[in-house]
Amino acid sequence: MGSVKIEKLTKKFGDVTALHDINLDIREGEFFALLGPSGCGKTTTMRCIAGFESPTTGAIYIGDREMKGISANRRNCGMVFQSYALFPHMDVFDNVAYSLNIKQLNSSNFFAKLPIYTRLLSKRLGKTPKNIENKVMEMLRYVELEQYSDRLTSELSGGQQQRVALARALVMEPAVLLMDEPLSNLDQKLRHSMRNTIRSIQQDLGITTIFVTHDQEEAMSMADRIAVMDHGKVVQVGTPTDLYSNPATPFIADFVGTSNILKASVEGEENSLTVVKGDGFVLRSANKTDKTEVDVIIRPEHVKVVDAGKAVNGADTNVIQGKVLMSTYLGSIVRYDVQVGSYQLIVDTTYSSGTGIFEEGRKVKLTVEHERVLLI
Ligand code: ADP
Ligand code: MG
Repeated sequence: MGSVKIEKLTKKFGDVTALHDINLDIREGEFFALLGPSGCGKTTTMRCIAGFESPTTGAIYIGDREMKGISANRRNCGMVFQSYALFPHMDVFDNVAYSLNIKQLNSSNFFAKLPIYTRLLSKRLGKTPKNIENKVMEMLRYVELEQYSDRLTSELSGGQQQRVALARALVMEPAVLLMDEPLSNLDQKLRHSMRNTIRSIQQDLGITTIFVTHDQEEAMSMADRIAVMDHGKVVQVGTPTDLYSNPATPFIADFVGTSNILKASVEGEENSLTVVKGDGFVLRSANKTDKTEVDVIIRPEHVKVVDAGKAVNGADTNVIQGKVLMSTYLGSIVRYDVQVGSYQLIVDTTYSSGTGIFEEGRKVKLTVEHERVLLI
């Protein structure tokens, strides 16, 4: 029912190719994030799904129905935008009830149309059609705005307005919920709590959700799977852990989490490890590669720092020489910037009061397991 399939979707605006041959398979009930920098085509993808743009080529299916020729209001998609797009002159209840009323107005049953004309009056008299009132109040309970139903939306905070927008989308019981950067206008703290609110409502209702963001942390913490987009293309689809541990390209390694990315040449193979050499380092990796030039990806938390004079043993470990440029104490971890050749590596170590912190200028050894050296 609520699955979304996108096949070979290309969208051009004149000379600009906003989307280039996009393929996505979003499962029923899944929380799916589109992640990528500004201008990569996220909104255009959403607008094509919602029916506000028509594909130049390619097809979109919601459930098993192809959407070609089906207008936006008949696609059964709920939408929430960065700008809340609420009616400021209406109260919370009416904002959420609005589309339901319109739907009832459009339905073929003449008697069903009557309530909307008298709604404002009847609401005062307690005669709002029960079916609408029940649904609206249930949704307001979900987003914890029950006690605000009589407030004008212009009197609400940003977070509250965004929850009204969410309730308004959900009250229609859409097959698919589309959210385009819904949290971007909220301050940091509110953004964090809204992540949880949205995720738990989505889980509760089991509604297929496509969530657009340029914030990797947001995508990682909320989504079942993520499609990373760049320049109108989907570059990788996977679970947050897939993307983190096996980024397909340096762009993804850099965009998802923090990475050290080093250029290196492949020197050969030794004991079924690939030996690579770059400016100031030789490393062995458990990865195989056909290439002669590679990008070496090392996550900051996979590196250990030890005193340059200390012997390191461990058959599965690389050792490289470096010099501490800066140390930043972050509570439970210490982040080091370490000079290796012409590179400045970021290293996150667990703080221990026993070893203290290596001071700036200190010569150190960095160790990283062969398994943790990724070649792409
Ligand atoms: P995102 O949401 O990821 O920031 P968009 O989907 O808004 O990216 O835009 C993708 C590309 O398509 C951009 O280069 C943008 O300038 C272009 N674009 C989007 N909408 C239009 C339009 N209506 N006319 C022309 N170009 C557009
Ligand atoms: Mg956008």
